[in-house]
Amino acid sequence: MAKLLEGKLVTAAMKEKQTLQVKELEAKGVTPTLGIIRVGERPDDISYEKGATKRCEGVGVAVKVFALPADCSQEQLLEVVAKVNEDASIHGVLIFRPLPKHMDDEVIRNALAPQKDIDGITDGSLAGVLTGKGNGFAPCTAQACIEILDHFGYELKGKRVVVVGRSLVVGKPLALMLTDRHATVTVCHTRTVDMPALCRTADIIVAAAGRAGVVSGEFFASGQVVIDVGINFGEDGKMCGDADFAAAQLIVDAITPVPGGVGTVTTSVLVGNVIAAALKSL
Ligand code: NAP
Repeated sequence: MAKLLEGKLVTAAMKEKQTLQVKELEAKGVTPTLGIIRVGERPDDISYEKGATKRCEGVGVAVKVFALPADCSQEQLLEVVAKVNEDASIHGVLIFRPLPKHMDDEVIRNALAPQKDIDGITDGSLAGVLTGKGNGFAPCTAQACIEILDHFGYELKGKRVVVVGRSLVVGKPLALMLTDRHATVTVCHTRTVDMPALCRTADIIVAAAGRAGVVSGEFFASGQVVIDVGINFGEDGKMCGDADFAAAQLIVDAITPVPGGVGTVTTSVLVGNVIAAALKSL
């Protein structure tokens, strides 16, 4: 049976370091603070907000939530973004997306001050991921995949990685980050021909398509590590990833569970980025 790469083991190690860093900041009179901007009441946003707040409070990071109604105007949202940009007590900001359809995502995300962009949503942060020289933060989920591989001691140099998905949130930035770590990366998407054959050649598969079961048994080969980013809900209402977990368990070497894998670590990366932004602000 494949080894389970449990997120809680990664977050425990991260929590230890983060608690010490917060103590250091407190000694200098700074409470690292996360600002959350939420438009509307989408259940997944609320659930992520609760989880992030709990994780922040667990290490001494404060949270301020700015909640707006789903029908607020783009100008009202931009006013809130300007307010948090100017508020020196807020070190990092999370804006829940997707935003309502009447808003221009590009305008909103690029209104955020680069130094507070702890989830790598501005074009400047993404350019930093591309050059590998930016001062900004990479998207937390992409970083979480790297944290998991590092924590469990998987070498990336020279490894063949197939990333399924090419979004700006996960697939594209992660492919660049893995390339920077000297992996050889193939990115798959909906127009890719013969994904199973490509995936079978990989040492590491990252599934980030957002479709349950899209990475099925025929994608796997022995010795592989599977990082499952997907968050889907099956017909039974249970949360599941993109990979066929039961099939993978019988073939591959190691796999992240869903829930309890990448999502868990993503929240800890977010907390770590708030602390890092507070340290940079000193
Ligand atoms: P997205 O913007 O919808 O992008 C999905 C990507 O997967 C697209 O590039 C799409 O290809 C590709 N894709 C979709 N179906 C495919 C298929 N059948 N075969 C090959 N490629 C396919 O999604 P996202 O925001 O990147 O999120 C991906 C998943 O990760 C979702 O389940 C999301 O909930 C989850 N997620 C998890 C976390 C976490 O912390 N664990 C954080 C963020 C997202 P095209 O470009 O060709 O359309």
